[in-house]
Amino acid sequence: MKDLRNCKLCAWECGVDRLEGERGVCRVTEPVVASKQLHPAPPASYTVFLGGCNYRCLNCQNWDIAHYPDNPEGRVLGRQDPRELAVEAVNMIETPQGRAIGADRIFFSGGEPTIHLPYVEEVVEHFREVTDLWKVNFDTNGFATRRSMRRIVRLADSITFDFKAYSDELHRALTGAPVEPVLRNLELLIPSHLDLIWEVRILLIPEAHDEEEIRGMCEFLADLDESVPVCFLAFRPNFVLERHPGAPRRLMRRAVEIARECGLENASWSGLPDLEGEVPPRVRNHRKALLNRYGGHEGAALMAGYAREVGCPRHPRDCGGCPRMAECPVKRYRAARRT
Ligand code: SF4
Ligand code: SF4
Repeated sequence: MKDLRNCKLCAWECGVDRLEGERGVCRVTEPVVASKQLHPAPPASYTVFLGGCNYRCLNCQNWDIAHYPDNPEGRVLGRQDPRELAVEAVNMIETPQGRAIGADRIFFSGGEPTIHLPYVEEVVEHFREVTDLWKVNFDTNGFATRRSMRRIVRLADSITFDFKAYSDELHRALTGAPVEPVLRNLELLIPSHLDLIWEVRILLIPEAHDEEEIRGMCEFLADLDESVPVCFLAFRPNFVLERHPGAPRRLMRRAVEIARECGLENASWSGLPDLEGEVPPRVRNHRKALLNRYGGHEGAALMAGYAREVGCPRHPRDCGGCPRMAECPVKRYRAARRT
């Protein structure tokens, strides 16, 4: 756990001493398990959700986990001995229920497991001691340092990679973080470790991801390798975006068409489209006011409008340099609606 002394596990490189209780952008000190369960979504697995995240995404589906410890509704089970978790995962995979769903791996998710990388490594070490039958998946937003990404490559049999946006403006508006480390990690992973990529997942939010944004992401991926598996996920209204409309079916279909036009050979979409919602008029007004700060990117300015509406004062969003990092109103937001 010595990495937590001067924590530079993710691209924020905060340099805080988490073992002494100092908090960086993720706000997490020791590794904590938030929940765990057999999960049928491919790859079927025993999924371990770790508490806390280095992003502050407006659309977070797991916000009560990811915004631990600051969100009043944050919930975690707590610290678990790594060996105990490894043995438990093997036992759960081998139960009749695990067999029935075809579970064949432990799946680290969150939040963002990169912020707990030394703990994940310990669990995996024990897991490999107990079994050579079952595999390891690492689910990531890609905001790791180069060094951490190389460690992830060493421990994982498969990686699910959430690619949130191509333009820095939209990436910042949605997550509070710059996109450059994510693009750099995709450039590291796809050409050299394509076999590890289970899927690059792209959540599509209407009025945020327009055709230009989708094309930018697809061209970037196709330039790295046209065979990389890409799955577009339909946005469902959640967290700060709880009133925003869900992704329409036509957007999902069009995204797959764009991916194919760009040369991607393995593009698909999934999720529940067409959920109702409406952009609040005040958020549209914020968009006009913020447009210049987001380089004229309409979708980014609209998303940033939601952040401003709940109290985020820093635009373009930059959570790593924000004086309100410890009292962030986004991290504390309590959604009334879950979809
Ligand atoms: S945000 Fe990243 S670098 Fe900062 S303390 Fe958390 S894991 Fe470490
Ligand atoms: S208030 Fe600061 S820390 Fe919170 S989302 Fe806005 S920029 Fe990020």
